[in-house]
Formats: sequence, structure tokens, C-alpha cells
Amino acid sequence: MVRKTLIAGNWKMNGLSEDGQALAKGVALEAKKAARKDCEFLICPPFTLLGLAKKAIKGSRVMLGAQDCHFAEKGAHTGDISPVMLKDAGCQYVIVGHSERRTDHYESDELVQKKATAAIAAGLKVIICIGETEAERDAGKTIDICTAQINGSVPECSTAQNTVIAYEPVWAIGTGRTPTTAEVEDVHAAIRKVIGKKLGRANANKMRILYGGSMKPSNAKELLALPDVDGGLIGGASLKVADFMAIAEASKQ
Ligand code: PEP
Repeated sequence: MVRKTLIAGNWKMNGLSEDGQALAKGVALEAKKAARKDCEFLICPPFTLLGLAKKAIKGSRVMLGAQDCHFAEKGAHTGDISPVMLKDAGCQYVIVGHSERRTDHYESDELVQKKATAAIAAGLKVIICIGETEAERDAGKTIDICTAQINGSVPECSTAQNTVIAYEPVWAIGTGRTPTTAEVEDVHAAIRKVIGKKLGRANANKMRILYGGSMKPSNAKELLALPDVDGGLIGGASLKVADFMAIAEASKQ
């Protein structure tokens, strides 16, 4: 089963006009030169940089995404951004359920599912994040937690075309620590099984499952070579053009 590798950068709350524009331009330029012609590139800047980033990547193979959305189309939700607004701003993707949203903003599986449903209805593709905390891993609950998060966060309208899953162990995000490759493959294979039960085998076989959590040029090759790892959701290393591109070049065909 060939699933197109997706190399996605989550810039988080980083970047002002000048450096954000330069980063987006740099990724667009290097993506043109990249040896890997068959993988997809996505950048997810903060909301304030979406317009500038859209201009900077125009005409390139790099796609644009946002880091969160509200579930409503419009209305009295001060400070929020709707999926329709993101689509209008040029986004093709939106990340939902990132662990930093789940922790900092107390987002539940139910809320993540509502956001994903609304984003898909607006014509966006969603990257739904799941992953266990260190305490949950230590207690041997990784697969149970991921299963519950998939069942609670992934909507019935999800398909392999409109949804990507990102497995991000919370304890690996921004820490420089990663699970072993065997552990990553075990979880990804389990996630695919759960998706199969929920959305059918055909969707499960075609749906991309990204790994996220301290992915960098030095560990990308072994992580991206795993059979059930279909790309990366990259935080820190997506803020440097060279690192982001080196991760893409390390990915499997
Ligand atoms: C992330 O926040 O999605 C992430 C994976 O961050 P980092 O690569 O910095 O661990």
C-alpha cells in the first residue's frame, strides 16, 4: 500500500513577519530543489502569518495549514478562527487536538471531534493528534489511551482522503527524547487497526499516520523507514529550513 509521505511543520507560537516569511520562502525554494519529488510538504504557521506564508509559498509544492480552529462557522467566539476562515485564508490543512491544546486549553476528545467534523465540512484536511503522557506510558496504557483518543476524536466522516493521524507521545514533544523505533511501529500498527475497526479496512490502509515528537535530521531516517509511519509532524526542527528539508530527504520512497 503506497501512502504519500507527508512532512508537516508545526511552527507553534513562533515567528514574526520577517522571519516567518523568510522561513516559508526558504521551504518553498528548497522544496523545488528537493530530490524527493513524491512527498508532500506542509507548513502550519501561527494565524498571524498565514497571509504572508500563503504569498511566500505561492506556486510551490508546499501546502498551508493552521494549528487549530473553532467548530462553529462564524459568530460570537472572541479570539477564535473558524474552518471557513482558514479555507478562505488559503489553508488546505488544519491540526486539531495537539497535546498543547489538550493541556493548555483543556480540549477534550469530544471537542476535538467537533473541530475535525467542522473542518472537514469546510473542505479542509485535518491532522488529528493523539498520544500518551509519560505516566500513561509507564503504566503500560499507551495503546489504550491512543485507542480511546481515536474513538473519541476521529469523526465518522473521516476518510483516508480528509484525515491524517499524528501519533505524538506527549513526553517526546520538544524534549529530545523519542520512543524506540520498535515502540513507534507497535503504536502505529495498533492505531491502524483501531482506524480499521472504526472506519473500515480500506480507509485504514490508505490513511496516513505521522509520527511527531523530537523528530530531527539525525533520527528521521529510522523513524520514517518504519512501515506504518507515513511522515512526520515536526515542531522545533521545522523552524530551520535545512533541518526540515533534511528530514524530508531522509524519508522513504
Ligand atoms: C509538535 O509539537 O507537534 C512536535 C512534534 O514538536 P517537536 O518536534 O518540537 O517535538
